Amino acid sequence: MPDPSAHIQSLDDALSIRWNTRVYELQASGIEVTVLSLGEAFFELPINAADRALRSGLHYSHSRGLSLLRQQLAADYHGLAVDPEREIIVTAGSKVAIYMALLTMLDPGDEVIIPEPAWVSYTEQVRLAHGVPISVPYDVPVVGWERFVTPRTRAIVVNSPNNPRGNVLGTEDWAVLHDLAERRGLYLLSDEAYSLFLPGGARFVSGADGDPEKHHTVICNSISKNFGMSGWRIGYVIAAAPFLDQLLKAQQHIITCAPTPLLMYVAEHYQELKQAAVPQIRTVMHRRADIVEAMDHIGIAHLSGDSTFYVFASTAPSSLSSHEFCVRLLEQHAIAAVPGIGYGCSCDRFIRISIGTESYERMVVALDEIRSLAETTALVAA
Ligand code: PMP
Repeated sequence: MPDPSAHIQSLDDALSIRWNTRVYELQASGIEVTVLSLGEAFFELPINAADRALRSGLHYSHSRGLSLLRQQLAADYHGLAVDPEREIIVTAGSKVAIYMALLTMLDPGDEVIIPEPAWVSYTEQVRLAHGVPISVPYDVPVVGWERFVTPRTRAIVVNSPNNPRGNVLGTEDWAVLHDLAERRGLYLLSDEAYSLFLPGGARFVSGADGDPEKHHTVICNSISKNFGMSGWRIGYVIAAAPFLDQLLKAQQHIITCAPTPLLMYVAEHYQELKQAAVPQIRTVMHRRADIVEAMDHIGIAHLSGDSTFYVFASTAPSSLSSHEFCVRLLEQHAIAAVPGIGYGCSCDRFIRISIGTESYERMVVALDEIRSLAETTALVAA
């Protein structure tokens, strides 16, 4: 067989997926693992009588996505005016939505600014699209991102609420970014996959709030996290019509459409699913606040944030790399967390802890073990 391309060989696999595959293998061999690595929250959802959708959704659907679902999503996007006919495309999860958005933005060699901690797939997706990822260390504030802009910069990836940091950008941060995008002719690729995971009462500020005409903002989102339905692979892109007319070509050549019966089911039960998810999100957000309090009490430092179901926890005072730390945690304590290095080079002294899967009680036991591993692996001063 001929060699796979040098291009694909140069890419890394997705670290969070590699870690969870290891968890599935350990579980299959009978080991009980405390799972703090999984990127989702588990909800009870009213999925009934899907057989009608299965029977009537045997065929391809509109390549922009089933019209009824586009209407539901467009009418429900955080107060933003979205034309369901021309300003939204439904696709198979936000992962491919982001990839197709990058394909639509980039020519080979174009640079994309990726602030760390950055979700594991941004850099490799930029490379897949023949772009050049430019990482910004996690401690550079939004006002400092412009320093990384060059004449080759085409886009900035913004992820708010942020996986794994758990923070959100406010109106002022967005104003800085919109001004930068306008002045330097950049796209803002706004990944809003966790837009419902905010603490009670907080209003989500979408990237398009400060750019309602969508001059430079491209929003990617999905029902994976917000409805707890990652397995159904339903995501969407919201952007200006001329941008989406180009993106649609990628969709037509790569996936045609997302699975029709699933689109039908979600379209017909949209409100019901959302109403089931929202109170459960509230419960997760309370648990997150409780876990942060427990971490503060135990003495585990973390980056500040109150959103998503992740906490990006420091491994200090350990001298181990985040990879070594997580290997020991998994092999010796059967606790799975994701190494910070997956979220960028500046993040090798962090691990990502997910609050979506385990009970508070099991998490507190795991946090004690994390703290003692950090202490026992600290460099002893000579
Ligand atoms: N963006 C972020 C920040 C994510 O964490 C994820 C999944 N972990 C995705 C996008 C992709 O999710 P999906 O393809 O299931 O919509």
